[in-house]
Amino acid sequence: MTKTDPLLGSHLSIAGGIPLALERAQKAGCRVLQIFVKNNNRWVGKVISEEEVLTFRRKWEQSKIQDVVAHDCYLLNLASPREDLWERSMDALIDEMERRDRLGLSYLVTHPGSHMGMGEEQGVSRIAQAIDRIHQKEDWKVRIALETTAGQGTSVGYRFEHLRDIIGAIHEPDRLAVCMDTCHIFAAGYDIREEEEYQKTMDRFDQTVGLEKLRVFHLNDSKREWGSRVDRHEHIGRGEIGTSGFAWILNDERLTEVPKILETPKGKTHREDKRNLKVLRALIQEV
Ligand SMILES: [Zn+2]
Repeated sequence: MTKTDPLLGSHLSIAGGIPLALERAQKAGCRVLQIFVKNNNRWVGKVISEEEVLTFRRKWEQSKIQDVVAHDCYLLNLASPREDLWERSMDALIDEMERRDRLGLSYLVTHPGSHMGMGEEQGVSRIAQAIDRIHQKEDWKVRIALETTAGQGTSVGYRFEHLRDIIGAIHEPDRLAVCMDTCHIFAAGYDIREEEEYQKTMDRFDQTVGLEKLRVFHLNDSKREWGSRVDRHEHIGRGEIGTSGFAWILNDERLTEVPKILETPKGKTHREDKRNLKVLRALIQEV
């Protein structure tokens, strides 16, 4: 009887240089890692030197880290009705794609955006236009993974149909993937607590978007109740989802190859990440 070692990891800081995130990940016991490639509250990041790129790639190769994905900066809004902010968001995302491509990262997790009162349909079409413009710029290896959202404010992406419509509207749909955040879908009204509900949610995703598009998972429990449309992450098992929801995901054979990343609250040490990873690993059934 053996337990498969799942592709579990966490979002970790790049303070002191991008290569240091790999060390942090190993200390926390991660097999996969998510990073910001620049300060997440700034439009323009400092240039990544060739030396930093090489050090990162070398350290990554020597490490046990299987996959590294990146998260976009929070200021971006690909659905913005304001022309200047829309253009700025596209430029910033192009800059992030270039950085990630140099580092050899697989996916760039991006929030679809907020329509700011234009309406969801308009928002979806604006996002699709923006992604087309970004894709036209260059044929990067790194791909955008649109993240499911909780549906706070005017954000788009809290229905699987929004993601389907964005993918359906762009010229190169094969270049776009999806990141499913458990806290966000739960807050958006998709239940995963009981096995039957979990299967229903995954079936709906499969029928609407397609499971093959699901390339990244964010594993977060939810501070707020099901359907609240409020995005508040909680430690695994200490929120409204509870451990069962995570057990279905971790033992779902269709999802074995999908990296699963914690975005739960962190302290100064790796204690919280270690604890959350331990809770998740204990949910995996022996095969
Ligand atoms: Zn997330």
